[in-house]
Amino acid sequence: MSKKLRVGILGATGSVGQRFIQLLENHPWFKVTAVAASERSAGKLYGEAVNWKMTTCLSHSVAQLKIKLAKPPLKCDFVFSGLDAVVAGEIEEEFAQAGYPVISNSKNHRFDPDVPLLIPDVNPDHITIIDYQRKQRGYTTGFIATSPNCSTIGLVMALKPLDDKFGVSKVIVTTMQAISGAGYPGLPSMDIIDNVIPYIGGEEEKVETEPLKLLAKLKRNRFELAKIKISAHCNRVHVLDGHLESVSVKLKNKTSLNRVVAAFKNYRSEPQKLKLPSAPEKPVIVKNEPDRPQTRMDRDTDKGMATTVGRIRPCPIFDYRFTVLSHNTIRGAAGGAILNAELLFNRGYLKLL
Ligand code: NAP
Repeated sequence: MSKKLRVGILGATGSVGQRFIQLLENHPWFKVTAVAASERSAGKLYGEAVNWKMTTCLSHSVAQLKIKLAKPPLKCDFVFSGLDAVVAGEIEEEFAQAGYPVISNSKNHRFDPDVPLLIPDVNPDHITIIDYQRKQRGYTTGFIATSPNCSTIGLVMALKPLDDKFGVSKVIVTTMQAISGAGYPGLPSMDIIDNVIPYIGGEEEKVETEPLKLLAKLKRNRFELAKIKISAHCNRVHVLDGHLESVSVKLKNKTSLNRVVAAFKNYRSEPQKLKLPSAPEKPVIVKNEPDRPQTRMDRDTDKGMATTVGRIRPCPIFDYRFTVLSHNTIRGAAGGAILNAELLFNRGYLKLL
């Protein structure tokens, strides 16, 4: 590709914003040219304003960018949004209205009936709702596309191969979620060290509803939600990155353990066929060791973009149970949104403005 698309990051100083900047360094198609945040940061150089928490160095070119208020216009062809949900809804609409494609991590527009909630390895066909969205809202070059909640992503990456082959009817999931899922600085250390907190506000509702849209059928511009009953227990645990989930599933069609394992192992989707730059080689990696996946050992598998599944075994109440792990700020946030952008670019929805 001769000329890279220019990217703006809304909420650039936050945990997700920093991860975007880290992951976009040396991206073959995209280049960060604008950063925006709140009044607290606007007007400062990014390198001075940000409390950089990534383990790689901040690039000189981004450090020198002046932070803008999160208002159009910005010098870019499209924006990623890692904005605080309190303000994300209106700001994202403003950008879409002004002609910018908005690829968001925030919850605000996930359930709008004309907005795709997208995991490229799960529901790439939902992208076409953008044409309808543009007609409905009078957007020209702009649109809004969203990514799911960080614990939903790992769960649905694991449910999709099973739903395709055998149909999923019921799910019980217990999450063990990393501290970074709450943004920086997150929980006070006195609350989380030596502790598990069995409550994350709004999380169980997201995990119980978002999979239904992700696994929906899109028919004549309407999402027919998947008919799956999900019960979620969400816990915050004392790890930095990586959401681990214990899952039990009831299937519509009975099958063998071997076929369940094969469904995970053989699953491939659009990002793999298209060889998108951020796509994991295999969306789901199966571990055979009895004590894997483990958060620290497996969260970075395939640059943090693969979902790891292990402990696949029969369930005495439902049909099968297993453990899922996915990196919450890479696959569950910035990396997932970058993969969305790569698919959108491939399908012609992102262009030089
Ligand atoms: P965060 O660390 O608190 O960062 C929030 C960002 O929003 C900061 O850049 C902040 O800028 C900006 N902001 C706050 N108020 C603003 C305003 N009035 N106008 C413009 N910008 C404003 O949060 P985060 O963890 O990165 O999460 C960002 C979003 O992604 C949230 O909606 C969250 O739910 C979602 N998400 C997070 C994760 C995760 O694992 N952390 C995963 C998936 C989705 P200042 O620095 O100037 O205040």
